[in-house]
Amino acid sequence: MKLVDAPGKANTGRPLKPFGIVVHHTASNRNADPDNVVAMCVRGVNKVPGPLYNYLIKRDGTIVKLTAENVKANHAGRGLQSVLTRMQQNNPVLGDATSPGKISANSRLIGVSIINDGLGEDVPETQMEALVNLCAFLCEGHNWNPDCAVIGHKEWTSRKVDPLFSMSELRGMIQRRMVTTIPAMTLPKEPEDGLVPFPGTLRKGSRSQAVVHVQRVVGALADGIFGRGTLAKVKQWQRVKGLVADGVVGPKTWAAMQIRRQEVVQPAFY
Ligand SMILES: [Zn+2]
Repeated sequence: MKLVDAPGKANTGRPLKPFGIVVHHTASNRNADPDNVVAMCVRGVNKVPGPLYNYLIKRDGTIVKLTAENVKANHAGRGLQSVLTRMQQNNPVLGDATSPGKISANSRLIGVSIINDGLGEDVPETQMEALVNLCAFLCEGHNWNPDCAVIGHKEWTSRKVDPLFSMSELRGMIQRRMVTTIPAMTLPKEPEDGLVPFPGTLRKGSRSQAVVHVQRVVGALADGIFGRGTLAKVKQWQRVKGLVADGVVGPKTWAAMQIRRQEVVQPAFY
């Protein structure tokens, strides 16, 4: 993930204590120099003082920090208390806002924007990937569930239409990114019908795609995180199979699981 500071980045300002992210596009001219867009978003426009977002993502995937982590940006304007309450209470986002809303909550919301003309310009894959990575990174750091903590501007207020892509798809991509990139290892490539080779010992505290495979076999929640629930299921599975029920997935337990390549559903990026 390529993260750079904007020239003149705001290091001081009103405090930001976020419990979620609002995704935007800039609606800037397609031919505008991206560095000028960055400068404008640091400075502000008309009556709105900068910074206009906390993070801005260029078309080439470069993520530009416009503020320090703890500084508020003026990005979301007025929106719905009900949306904010759902985020606070960890309830999934409902979708597009049906009314304009009356409250300001920029001190509670991180603003992330992609540079895009907002007129239907394609979002390049590298830019979308950077957006997914940044949101996954922020969600992980704050221990947020993307389904509850990542909203689009159009979901905050009916005054706005950004971003133009589907927010539920974006949230799905962030979810998958959080599970699949936690890993300390990647599974080697091999024939379609072969068994997935032993990825190294998995135990409580392990986080990886390999843990997802194990969770599917033992019937635990397939979130890629080897926690207490997975531990109990692994022990139970080992017991049934006549293995040492120590809850550790070593070479023997892994081999007994017979995880085949073709059964492994690799999450698609889009
Ligand atoms: Zn917006």
